Amino acid sequence: MASHFIPENLPSRIQHFIDGHFVDSVSGATFDVLDPVSNTTYATAAAGQKEDVDLAVAAATKAFQTGPWPGLAPRARSRILNRIADAVEAQDARLAELETFDTGLPITQALGQAKRAAENFRFFADLIVAQADDTYKVPGVQVNYVNRKPIGVAGLITPWNTPFMLESWKLAPALASGCTVVLKPAEFTPLSASLWAEIFRDAGLPDGVFNLVNGLGEEAGDALVKHPGVPLISFTGETTTGQTIFRNAAANLKGLSMELGGKSPAIVFADADLDAAIDSTLFGVFSLNGERCTAGSRILVERSIYEEFLEKYAARARNIIVGDPHDPRTEVGALVHPEHYAKVMSYVEIGKTEGRLLAGGGRPPGLPEGNYVSPTVFADVKPEARIFQEEIFGPVVAITPFDTDAEALELANGVKYGLAAYLWTSNLTRAHTFAHAVEAGMVWLNSHNVRDLRTPFGGVKSSGLGHEGGYRSIDFYTDSQAVHITL
Ligand code: NAD
Repeated sequence: MASHFIPENLPSRIQHFIDGHFVDSVSGATFDVLDPVSNTTYATAAAGQKEDVDLAVAAATKAFQTGPWPGLAPRARSRILNRIADAVEAQDARLAELETFDTGLPITQALGQAKRAAENFRFFADLIVAQADDTYKVPGVQVNYVNRKPIGVAGLITPWNTPFMLESWKLAPALASGCTVVLKPAEFTPLSASLWAEIFRDAGLPDGVFNLVNGLGEEAGDALVKHPGVPLISFTGETTTGQTIFRNAAANLKGLSMELGGKSPAIVFADADLDAAIDSTLFGVFSLNGERCTAGSRILVERSIYEEFLEKYAARARNIIVGDPHDPRTEVGALVHPEHYAKVMSYVEIGKTEGRLLAGGGRPPGLPEGNYVSPTVFADVKPEARIFQEEIFGPVVAITPFDTDAEALELANGVKYGLAAYLWTSNLTRAHTFAHAVEAGMVWLNSHNVRDLRTPFGGVKSSGLGHEGGYRSIDFYTDSQAVHITL
């Protein structure tokens, strides 16, 4: 194995953080953590079990019931959230370095994700001080108002694809709302989550408000979902895991927010700005190694420009630089874990029987080890193909031609998912008509996937339940109590 970059002061042991202290599992259990370039174990992490989750929930409950956090004035919470954002910004290079080492994401993109994590805290720090609640007057009869209250201990369960940023997307609104939290990060990538502990402590977050339990989904995650003292779960991950969590949360009737899988279409009409569409659809599926919930992993192209699109697209895909995630020139790094690599490679083989291979199709030359996959492009993919229907979550794209708007819509909607859609056309009426008809929680028209944190984020069909973003996130982490007063 060729040598590769190893960050300084890399921990060899990753612990839980409960009630202001780093601790091991009560049972002493651990699991191995690999880096995706050498696929060797670089650390062992505490494997949380039910008793560890019980301790974390007890600490969070105590902090909620007796600590200052839920009752602080919004401005006081906001100051702490801003200090957290400052700290994330101040160490974004180090965060990106560790995230890249743990996940295999290209370093330039990991840096962008660290900046987004800071922005998530900054955004909810602003939002919480601007929060207004409704008052209703029934003249001469009543005044009625909404008393908003943090719900309690929030259970946060996150995936491995952009771990630190996705954790911030739950931590920031939960803490802004006055909840206390127990975070269970993904077992493939536990490294960056442990950094929150010191960032929060230095920013002045009281002990017990943030608790972290590492471990496997079926153990630590399951215990958190089933814990009667946790009234809500915010989950991001696979659709099948979401279904299991939904069943397991039923016994205690928990609030659930579910951000699940996707197989999002990018639809390119003949009247589109072709160069912009090609730039964006390449970015849409090959950035973040294709390990992106909103990846535009199906491209539907109007037949009159189909061959031209394929030729230009495949030529660009063949030139994408795959390599060491720490090299700033790298555009596609190493997939997160050998298990995920095997899954993506199995879809590449399936694709060879379902479509016309135009680029990639396996391991890139010159990279004999590590979880590397060449950006892979399949054309002429039929809607019943598995690579059209199933989420691959890697640098693999399926391209399909269409003849009419109606056919494009049928293809776009013909999967079980409904997370995002991307439309490329210069016809304003068609753009809006199509956007309204497509079954997707989020639509980008002639645009990259750029987020506005005030807008709803979430999917329809098998892509999720509920929307977060802006005040919707605050709504999720709070109860709105109605108070009626007779005049
Ligand atoms: P996953 O479902 O395997 O795991 C996600 C988390 O759930 C992990 O922390 C895992 O330990 C935990 N978990 C697993 N089984 C559990 C159980 N029985 N009870 C409680 N917790 C359990 O997902 P992943 O492979 O880590 O992430 C990739 C998936 O996440 C993809 O499907 C992707 O589309 C999706 N995703 C969605 C969004 C979105 O916003 N919609 C964002 C990022 C990723």
